[in-house]
Amino acid sequence: MDLTSLRSHNDRTVLALVRSGALSRASIAERTGLTPQAVSKIVARLMAAGLLEETGAVRDGGRGKPRMSLRLAPDGAHAYGAYVDRDELRVVELDLTGEVVSASAVPLAPMFTPADVLDALEPLVSAGEQVLGLGIGIAGPLDHRDGVVSPNGLPGWDAVPLKALAEQRLGLPVVIDKDTNAAVLAEAWRRPLRDAALVFVGTGLGVGLLLGGEVHRGARSGAGEFGHTTIQLDGPLCVCGRRGCVEAVHAAATGVEAARVLGAAVANLVQLLDLDQIILSGRKVLGSPELYPGAMPDVDVSVTSYGPDLVPVGAGLLVLGELF
Ligand SMILES: [Zn+2]
Repeated sequence: MDLTSLRSHNDRTVLALVRSGALSRASIAERTGLTPQAVSKIVARLMAAGLLEETGAVRDGGRGKPRMSLRLAPDGAHAYGAYVDRDELRVVELDLTGEVVSASAVPLAPMFTPADVLDALEPLVSAGEQVLGLGIGIAGPLDHRDGVVSPNGLPGWDAVPLKALAEQRLGLPVVIDKDTNAAVLAEAWRRPLRDAALVFVGTGLGVGLLLGGEVHRGARSGAGEFGHTTIQLDGPLCVCGRRGCVEAVHAAATGVEAARVLGAAVANLVQLLDLDQIILSGRKVLGSPELYPGAMPDVDVSVTSYGPDLVPVGAGLLVLGELF
């Protein structure tokens, strides 16, 4: 789908406003400061592209005569999102509103290669008229801009040009980001977040940071490697090659003790960044949701509402989000 002509600032502003609640042309003009004529033109263009639809007449704001209200056309655009975990591949297809249309998971054999991932992706992803592209979430380190990945915990994956390889194989635009960045993006899609950490406790351990409402990636997309900060000098050996990382110390503990380790590390993070929201996620948290929240520092702590599709949904939103 070629949306190059629809990516102007005003188009994105109008789409984002409509996403926040069905609105009439007149109220879009009021909120944006655009002229009614300009709004009519933009809306006509977005309707012609299949991204907006009319829902019928409503009393907008309760005053005056009923006006024709607009909403996102769910099937106007779709995006795929994938999560390359250390033992499985999860893929979702999202509609324009970010809702999951279909979801699948396939196991990945130990020591799987980039070619194995592409083989597993190909039957699950199809380029179509309305498909904007594929987002892939994977462990860091990686470079978000060029899509070259060297994920911790995946032996043999060193400087893999995953974006280029996937685009060539699938014939779709591909965006790569850390699994944790995708995850925090998904949370921010559903509710307002400003200074928050999404703590992901799965086969690895990391955080996605939202600072001032924006995903914080750092100078080399390396931010959020929380699992590989040292919490115990001379502690257990970690997959990254160092000793005493949060991930390794947490993995060596069980039950309440594991939750205490994570709670202490998250408290350091909250102290450092003055965060006001912590969202817990990942397989370990979903497996025992009562264990971790009580061990966290005294801020707003919640468990993700997405379940196991958190990272793939966020990866799809990396692509879909370009429209808003
Ligand atoms: Zn480590």
